[in-house]
Amino acid sequence: MSETESRFTVLRQSADHDAVAAIERLVREGSDRALNRINLLDFAAASNVNEEKAIAAFLHASRLGLFDMSWNLLCPGCGGILDANATLKTVHREDYHCALCAAGYEPTLDEMVEVSFSVSPRLRRIAAHDPNSLPFWEYTRQLFWSSGIDFSDDSFAQMVSEVVLESIELPPGAKSVVSLQLPDQFIIVFDPVTHSSQFFDVKGEPATECRDLSVVFNKAHAHFGTLAIQPGPVRLVLENRTDQRVLPAVYIAGDALHHMLSRRKKFLTANRLLTNQTFRDIYRTDALDVDQQLKITSLSFLFTDLKGSTELYERVGDLVAYDLVKAHFGVLNEVVAAEAGAVVKTIGDAVMATFSTPDRALAAALHMRRAMLKLNAERRGEDMLLKIGIHEGPCLAVTVNDRLDYFGQTVNIAARVQGLAMSRSIFATEPVVQDPAASRMLASAGLVAVPQSASLRGIADKLTVYEIA
Ligand SMILES: [Zn+2]
Repeated sequence: MSETESRFTVLRQSADHDAVAAIERLVREGSDRALNRINLLDFAAASNVNEEKAIAAFLHASRLGLFDMSWNLLCPGCGGILDANATLKTVHREDYHCALCAAGYEPTLDEMVEVSFSVSPRLRRIAAHDPNSLPFWEYTRQLFWSSGIDFSDDSFAQMVSEVVLESIELPPGAKSVVSLQLPDQFIIVFDPVTHSSQFFDVKGEPATECRDLSVVFNKAHAHFGTLAIQPGPVRLVLENRTDQRVLPAVYIAGDALHHMLSRRKKFLTANRLLTNQTFRDIYRTDALDVDQQLKITSLSFLFTDLKGSTELYERVGDLVAYDLVKAHFGVLNEVVAAEAGAVVKTIGDAVMATFSTPDRALAAALHMRRAMLKLNAERRGEDMLLKIGIHEGPCLAVTVNDRLDYFGQTVNIAARVQGLAMSRSIFATEPVVQDPAASRMLASAGLVAVPQSASLRGIADKLTVYEIA
């Protein structure tokens, strides 16, 4: 058996059968492009595999060295990849600058950081493993507008023919002159290798004489400014003073380009991956550096606690109580994983779990309540009552005690809201019950969320919390 075959054998033992079969098919039959920076949500839809199972399978495959993960910074403006990192550890908090948009963006793990997977050269060699060998437009398509833009072969070719006036490959040190007729439009010269750009604001009376313009590529991530110029003939000198080839093209930055770049794909966010149980299990202590803090605009927190667990120990004795509490943790872990969440930690008899959307957290809460009733029935008595609280909001991802954890007022509020819950009730905040998918879920379960005003310890303002009885 070859090394690859034996790795796939191991993969089959740890991941979903259909997902692994789809991965094998992709490696065998997929084009080079299809194996570079794979968008897992696309992959799951195309191969008819559950998204969570596809994510788990690719995580295991990466652990086995069959694929390489990439944490990509996607520009919110143009969908281009501003930076690609082998780990989340090299993603920094400061602005990422997009030369094409001439704008800087502070990264958030749920809006800007995408996780994609590329086949390992050990498994199959693809052109993107040597980016310098990629043809001009393949480079732009695979390395800059990668998994975030919904391009088909036709729509990409259409973009190039409709909005690109000129494109030229310049080896290191090379210089080239192109003659152009500048239309009365906003023009951008952009190179995706160095991520640098020069803007031309073309307006006014058309000029008859030819003008000389020049763009020198000499550094990375640079915007050389905007030059106002009249329409008409120009000689554009393009010079590469870097030690790598550059691939500048002259784009008409009009409605056609904006329209094409507005067609975004949904992608696997870093936030979603961090709140995936398989990721947490495999990459336990390896997601973030100790002093790293990354922003998340929305994460849903679920806290549970056992009501009266002290009395439980008193009533049934340590051994039986310990056994019951352990069984309850088993049930909660199963429910969290089944609802696409992750257990961040347990504190005594309490559990803190995260979900990428409020409806998943609410589904888990309802599921937990049913599972606890069943567990109690199996144990012949209602010995364990679970109190649950849910809240959604912004937070920071951090590493505490070798563990990926979350920090911020959203986390504090979620814990306090849990403290309000009585036996078997679920307490949730406004952002949770007003989430469209969550409120649909409540309606279809015939459940009503009853509002009440609460003051929470350590939180200045009164808060409306909802009891789901
Ligand atoms: Zn951009």
